[in-house]
Amino acid sequence: MKLKLNVIFFAFPVFLILLCSCGGTPEEIGETQAAQSSETSSHRNIILIIIDTLRADHLSCYGYNRNTSPVLDSLAESGTLWLNAQAQAPWTLPSHASIWTGLSLRSHRTNMEIFWNDGERSRKINYSLDTDLPSLPVLLSEAGFTTFGLANVILLNETHGFNEGFQYYSCNDAGHGRAAVSVDSLIIWLEQHSDERFFCMLHLFDVHAPYNPPPQYRELYGEYSSEETTSWLIEDGVLMNPQDRDQLVSYYDGEITWVDDNLGRLFSWMRENGLSNNTLIVLTADHGEEFLEHGWVDHCHTLYQELLHIPLIFTGPGINAGVVDSRVAGQYDILPTLLTWAGISHSFVFDGTDILSQDFNAFRAVPASGVLPTAFLDSSHLASVLSGNIKTIAMVDLEEFVSFDLSEDPEELDPLAADSAGVENVLYYWATPQKGFPELVVHDESDINTLKDLGYIN
Ligand SMILES: [Zn+2]
Repeated sequence: MKLKLNVIFFAFPVFLILLCSCGGTPEEIGETQAAQSSETSSHRNIILIIIDTLRADHLSCYGYNRNTSPVLDSLAESGTLWLNAQAQAPWTLPSHASIWTGLSLRSHRTNMEIFWNDGERSRKINYSLDTDLPSLPVLLSEAGFTTFGLANVILLNETHGFNEGFQYYSCNDAGHGRAAVSVDSLIIWLEQHSDERFFCMLHLFDVHAPYNPPPQYRELYGEYSSEETTSWLIEDGVLMNPQDRDQLVSYYDGEITWVDDNLGRLFSWMRENGLSNNTLIVLTADHGEEFLEHGWVDHCHTLYQELLHIPLIFTGPGINAGVVDSRVAGQYDILPTLLTWAGISHSFVFDGTDILSQDFNAFRAVPASGVLPTAFLDSSHLASVLSGNIKTIAMVDLEEFVSFDLSEDPEELDPLAADSAGVENVLYYWATPQKGFPELVVHDESDINTLKDLGYIN
């Protein structure tokens, strides 16, 4: 693909680091007011596609050596690809909350809590999205969009608050293998509502473990045993036999191509029905996936780039075509960017910013945080910031920090002494005032079984 590289050089002026907005401004400016729309004829509709567990570097448009994603490659060619997009968390619930609210995890606080008992992890609990926070579907709905959400994992269902603001919302609690059905459902909905100004959110769960690509995708990238899924390969984040890694990756990549093909059907239908010229498509992921890069498989365990580096592509009216933007972007930028794109005035202050603007602070520190796995019993919390090429990760409770220069060490294998600005940015992020006050989710027995099956609780 021929792409114009929007080169941003990452020098490290300290004064810019000190001015960074990694934690965001905690107070809203002025009174909360109803959003207003100034719709133009071309800036009309939005489709946000979130592919669960899709790491950026397994897409061919991000340089992968397998041709996993020809459809998404074309999408990127027709729009702007964000080369250095970061998830705000390494797992589903808090990452989606950042997409919904435009806030970092320390602001919205929708996350899990782990309880320990005699040095053993005894149980995990989840908190719902605080529906009092301004959110993407609520603000777009108030601005006159007809809103439709289609999700495929229990963490995004009504119990967790993610349906708020959607006039039409459907969530399949265990939505593996549903890319084709979900795309069909979206097309059927669009057939009935395309004369309205719409916002659609499509969440696909196929790429999430256990990987079980349809037969024609199972051997796209290698021939293995006749086992149907990869579920027997992983137990609690550990690959039972490291020699199975190739199979794991090949099945994961097969799932990506399966999703890519189905999105191709959606985009073809949109072209045939006149929606391509007036609809913005945003494609991203909630987090990546790990394949033993740092000792784990699956996700949630660390804040390394295999989990935080996500795809982010904008294409449609008002978006420059054929552009690769190398400035660091975050999931929490999507909401403020979409409000500006749609011409919606508001008085909210988000942690994210409008990344289509040419003058946003390219040296800001984009944060993430997570919860440490069982192996580290003396500390529970991880936090990180990426500013330019410098990534700093902290075991927060122990106040231990390391830094990486991703331009020299993209795989984060050689930790450097902590970068002083990075340490300051992590501490600043960790001190972010709480804006959301989520409620503890009380699951019934059926939900608990689903969450266990998906690996979200144990
Ligand atoms: Zn996820």
